[in-house]
Amino acid sequence: MNAETVTDKHVFAFAEGDGKNKKLLGGKGANLCEMTRIGLNVPPGFVISTAACLEYLDSPSRELQAGIMDQVHAHMRKVEAQTDKGFGDADNPLLVSVRSGSALSMPGMMDTILNLGLNGATLQGVIAQTGDRRFGYDAYRRFIQLFGKVALGVPDERFDRQFDAIKKRAGVTEDVALSADDLQEVSEGFLEVVAEFTGRPFPDDPFEQLEIAIKAVFNSWTGKRAVDYRKQFNITPDMANGTAVNVQTMVFGNRGEDSGTGVAFTRNPGTGENKLFGEYLVNAQGEDVVAGIRTPKPIDRMTAEMPQMAEELAELRDKLETHYREIQDFEFTIERGRLFCLQTRNGKMNATAMVRTSVEMERAGLIDRKEALLRIQPELLEQMLFPRLDPGVRSEPVAQGLPASPGAASGIAVFDADRAEQIGKEMGHKVILVREETKPEDIHGFFAAQGILTSRGGKTSHAAVVARGMGKPCVAGAEGIGVDVERREAQVGKASFREGDIITIDGSTGKVYLGEIPTVEPEFTQELSDLLGWADEAAQLQVWANADLPDDARRALKYGALGIGLARTERMFNAVDRLPIVIEMIVAETPEQRREALDKLLPLQRADFKDLFQVMSPNPVTIRLLDPPIHEFLPDENQLKRDLETLRSLGATSHGMTVLAGAMNLIQTSDERRTEIDGIRRLLDPALVEEAIAKKEAMLHKVHVLYETNPMLGHRGVRLGLTSPEIYEMQIRAILEAAADCAKMGIRIQPRIKVPQVCTREELVRVRAYVDEIHAEIQQRDGRPVDFKFGTMIEVVRACMQAGPLAEVAEFFSFGTNDLTQAAFSFSREDAENKFLPQYNQLGILPNNPFEVLDSEGVGKLMEFAVEWGKEVRPDMHVGICGEHGGHPDSIGLCHRIGLDYVSCSAPRVPVAKLAAAHVALLAD
Ligand code: PEP
Ligand code: MG
Repeated sequence: MNAETVTDKHVFAFAEGDGKNKKLLGGKGANLCEMTRIGLNVPPGFVISTAACLEYLDSPSRELQAGIMDQVHAHMRKVEAQTDKGFGDADNPLLVSVRSGSALSMPGMMDTILNLGLNGATLQGVIAQTGDRRFGYDAYRRFIQLFGKVALGVPDERFDRQFDAIKKRAGVTEDVALSADDLQEVSEGFLEVVAEFTGRPFPDDPFEQLEIAIKAVFNSWTGKRAVDYRKQFNITPDMANGTAVNVQTMVFGNRGEDSGTGVAFTRNPGTGENKLFGEYLVNAQGEDVVAGIRTPKPIDRMTAEMPQMAEELAELRDKLETHYREIQDFEFTIERGRLFCLQTRNGKMNATAMVRTSVEMERAGLIDRKEALLRIQPELLEQMLFPRLDPGVRSEPVAQGLPASPGAASGIAVFDADRAEQIGKEMGHKVILVREETKPEDIHGFFAAQGILTSRGGKTSHAAVVARGMGKPCVAGAEGIGVDVERREAQVGKASFREGDIITIDGSTGKVYLGEIPTVEPEFTQELSDLLGWADEAAQLQVWANADLPDDARRALKYGALGIGLARTERMFNAVDRLPIVIEMIVAETPEQRREALDKLLPLQRADFKDLFQVMSPNPVTIRLLDPPIHEFLPDENQLKRDLETLRSLGATSHGMTVLAGAMNLIQTSDERRTEIDGIRRLLDPALVEEAIAKKEAMLHKVHVLYETNPMLGHRGVRLGLTSPEIYEMQIRAILEAAADCAKMGIRIQPRIKVPQVCTREELVRVRAYVDEIHAEIQQRDGRPVDFKFGTMIEVVRACMQAGPLAEVAEFFSFGTNDLTQAAFSFSREDAENKFLPQYNQLGILPNNPFEVLDSEGVGKLMEFAVEWGKEVRPDMHVGICGEHGGHPDSIGLCHRIGLDYVSCSAPRVPVAKLAAAHVALLAD
């Protein structure tokens, strides 16, 4: 029978195998074929196909089918011809490696057997050729052990026992300290171990060795390790069926000064620089590099040390990049002045390098723009926008919380916002604000801190939301940390830290560390800017940003945001100088009192909006009218009660002082003493204390009046705006007056007023009426038109169902998918994330967290209906999303499919969102 009839062909030389056919040749085999076919100097060899494996496994006796070994012999003859060596030739031995390799890379598969072909005779050939007895015996004992273990099933311990006994006798602890004689003894001992275990002498015939090895590789496909691995990662026969066997010539980098070995990247994987990056060793084997026995040299040095090889390496680099059109991570060996490429794969790089190489490869014509965009995973870009922990520094975290706002920061731990301000702002130190949870009145602490750590609360807790808005790192809900604010210390397991100790938090991973870990600063490079420009051209969706303050807006603009999709006005209320006025507004007893407070807020808000409009000019800025329940601006009830208690006892003391001052004339004492007591009395003015008590009591009363069982579903958003119209009127006036001021100054702007929590058309009609009235008044006052758009959040289920009627009034829709997800699932986010969602995910009841990945089947459907019905009424309806999903690549896919115009997300997500928007558009083509 002809060994190579087409149908029976199971063995393929590297030069003839189809480099794309991973199913038949396995990933590794196909890659070796591909490398050979493009003219790389790959050590010659051949692949035995996965089809041969399946036939073998099917055969009842587990014998290789007829013809396979004939084909192997024939191919080995060719390899001998190519290498000028002989398989089993004692003078010039050809040694091979034997590796498994299925269609998918599977670490559960078989170990590689190296140096197959060695026996007593060929060993002498190797020693004669290398002039290195030690090397020869070392190779031999490794081969016997690996072959014994992998192909013959000899347990490792048997070899280890032998090996340890000899090391002990030689008085050494490290393998490298063994002499040639020791290793000879080890080899001989190992041969005995095998003979003892298998009951047969170690096979000396190289072809017998090879046949046993091939069967062992095939058998490994049904071995426990591989079966478990496939089960674990759901690898079906459709994806990978059977393993191939790769038989390849061994080449040695330790054959003298004209030999060597190394690893390299075609470009620098840390920076993307277009320059070979790697290291090598002269007269060494790859293992020497791995074992750290010798320190490799930077690849640059090769030009001086081995100029011819350096030139060939440069050619190899070009060939690799031209063919793979991707940065390659490759291994090479030089055997007696011949350069071999042993392996190549796509190089793993950090975000900076990915971006730079994409742009430079496109410019060099190596890839096109589509490829330049698609080769980068959008999420990776976030790395470029936040400080990261220095990857070179190893440290063990002491606690794990939720990664609530990305980025890393170190600083002095402080336990309240005032201390944060003192130590951070006034003394100029870096601080991390550590709280059980944060409240609006902590806001000045946020400004002063590098990062925020809380022991309670989820990803939508106050700390998380505010930190994200500010672009500061936050680890939330680190439950392992016990915070004791009074004592200014925190307990973490057995460790603790106090105020003044330095800690580090990583808001991208949720990890907390004691001590300072250096961080790597972010860099918004020109290449990133170029790449994002290409992304904009490719994408259908625009990317806008959620930004509340001018600084956030500036950052968003720098990252390429084309508008602001959500400015939460409540964040502006939170500023330290505003909160007292806001509280005044809340505790006001009459509309007049409230108006007085609002009059103070008006100019402040007007200035806020003007700043935002100016920064974003001429792009749109969407300002949302006040949304949260008003009591959120008041202090906590228990705190108020504690304050009152303190004030009341102070009141008693001050009253006592008055009595004491009055009683002084009854007591004979010096004038000096009398003045002193009078001073204290005046300082402790009972009227002042009374006033403070009255204020706190009024606040407490308001807290009680405003108390809601379920504030998230309560008196907030437009409901508040319609029942206390003066608040919305003030905000609307501030927006339109700011717009009028900009118009006066000739600044081109696009203001947009957005109403939150709307569920009926009537609500919108009424707010629109306020807007129209104030708008008309301002236009008349200035005699100049003021343009704006009026729209609504779509964040309650009824709003989706009523999209048609709402579209009669709203000129734009903005999906608030944070609330809409809560509403659609009837999940409170905090409770869901802290209580049952992780289990739901683990059990597979829900595939992921719907607050992170937009739920396409439920929330997505609601959105789809709303878009459709809204556009039926108003065909040019402008529609976007401003929930957190707006920055999530998978969710962006959905937004693209249902025809949104833009996504709006926090500034640092803008680049991620832009690339994701480009990806969905490009992949949909
Ligand atoms: C939303 O609900 O998605 C939204 C953007 O509003 P907020 O997160 O402020 O409730
Ligand atoms: Mg909302």
